[in-house]
Amino acid sequence: MTINQIIKRAFERLKKEGKLLTPDFYMEAFCKEAKAAGIIIEDCNQIDKFTKKLSKPLQDELKQYRVRSLNELITFFISKLNRTNESESSAQISALNTLLKRVLKTIASLHNAEISALSRKTLKDLDLATQAGQVEKMKDEWIEFLTLYDDSYLDSLKPFTKFNKNDIKATLSSFKFEASSEEDFHNLALLFVSSFAPSLASSVNETLANLSEEIRDNPESLNTPAMYKSIKKAIKLRIDLDKNHVKKMVYVLDDVLERLSKQILVLIERTDHSGKEIFNIKQTLEELELEQDDDLKSAQKKLYTIANSLEKETALLGTELKEHSSVVDEMEIKIKSLEAELSVAKKASREDALTKLYNKRALDEFLQMKEGEFKRYKKPYSVVFFDIDLFKKVNDTYGHEAGDVVLKGFAQIFKKLARNVDVVGRYGGEEFLAILSETDHKGAEIFAQKVRKKLEISRFVHDRKKIKVTISGGIAFREEYPSMSLMMKASDERLYKAKNSGRNKIVSG
Ligand code: GH3
Ligand code: MG
Ligand code: MG
Repeated sequence: MTINQIIKRAFERLKKEGKLLTPDFYMEAFCKEAKAAGIIIEDCNQIDKFTKKLSKPLQDELKQYRVRSLNELITFFISKLNRTNESESSAQISALNTLLKRVLKTIASLHNAEISALSRKTLKDLDLATQAGQVEKMKDEWIEFLTLYDDSYLDSLKPFTKFNKNDIKATLSSFKFEASSEEDFHNLALLFVSSFAPSLASSVNETLANLSEEIRDNPESLNTPAMYKSIKKAIKLRIDLDKNHVKKMVYVLDDVLERLSKQILVLIERTDHSGKEIFNIKQTLEELELEQDDDLKSAQKKLYTIANSLEKETALLGTELKEHSSVVDEMEIKIKSLEAELSVAKKASREDALTKLYNKRALDEFLQMKEGEFKRYKKPYSVVFFDIDLFKKVNDTYGHEAGDVVLKGFAQIFKKLARNVDVVGRYGGEEFLAILSETDHKGAEIFAQKVRKKLEISRFVHDRKKIKVTISGGIAFREEYPSMSLMMKASDERLYKAKNSGRNKIVSG
């Protein structure tokens, strides 16, 4: 494409876009066409060459002002340079701000609800607006108002005024109703009569009815001062009528609703009786004296229907509840029997849930058995009471879960080191008991030391942390004591001796 063709197209573009043939517009159009034709023209990228070297905030500012030509760029800088005196520019901004607020206040006082609201909102937002984005939003709202503003309603004044769209005050002051025909009066009369009809109260007051009739019969009377007074009075009367009607309605409805809500509460508490109570409400509603008032009657009718359906619902609810209560009873019996089974199962359990070792119940049973064998067959046995050292600290330092890991880990070691014929179990929290069959004092000590040493070199891992614990133990050999309970007591005392003498120890004598 030749330059001449591009120039031609640039002119066509300007024409199509309805732009004037100014140097700037021409340059813009020319550059667009050149770009479209794939031709690079040095002059078209002139501003880019300069703007690229500017700081980011300045570049953004330029974009905001849509600076496109060198001319505009220079103008931009000149105005910027003129504003370099900061105190002067801030004084200017504050003066502009004040001016803007005054303009807005003025607009807000004009008689147009929409524009007043928008002005008041902008005034409020202006005090809060610290960011450019918020100001942008305000700008949009004003543009939207202007775009949507429809003042065609003013046209309806045309027949009665010297109409001037730009001066509403003058337009209104020239408002004049001149009845040139009987029809004009007739229309005006209809307008007044329709405005007397109360919007809520259904019965028309006699005074209002008479006045309406008078106006209807004699529209020309609208022209008299006496009629003017009567109309003013009539409007006040009409408003009072509506007000009283609302009061009456609210009072009646309040009363019925209060009783209904009370009854609903009763219904929840005693389903059997509530059916009767609702029946009573229905009767009250039926007997309610509401003469001549159609609206109230219809409200009464609605409430009656509500009460009616509530009555049916209550009856239904009653039977349903009765049916359900038998199901609930059955379930209660089932739950009780399940609870009994559970407690039997619990009692029968011999295993400690956490460590899977024997629990105290099982250990006690084994002790009784060993004791029986000892007494009958002279079968010797020993016991070792173990207690993990400073276990509370493990919980406090690493948490209860970590404590559980240690208990489980120790249980595994404990079980592994014991023989098949030995019984090992968890006696309580961090206390363990070993019942060693056919084992004397010395044998028991060997076993206990084995456990102690193994634990000393073990590490339990929880949450990527290595936990180290030690254990103390107390030994007792049955043959050395007159009774099982004295043996147990001795073992327990030795365990505490081990604790008192520094822990991580087995005390056997
Ligand atoms: P000592 O060396 O004197 O025995 O000190 P200790 O801290 O081991 O003794 P103490 O009796 O003061 O604390 C025992 C702790 O063991 C307290 C209790 O919370 C904890 N414990 C008991 N049963 C469990 C359990 O099942 N899980 C966990 N994590 N902790 C338990
Ligand atoms: Mg302990
Ligand atoms: Mg303890």
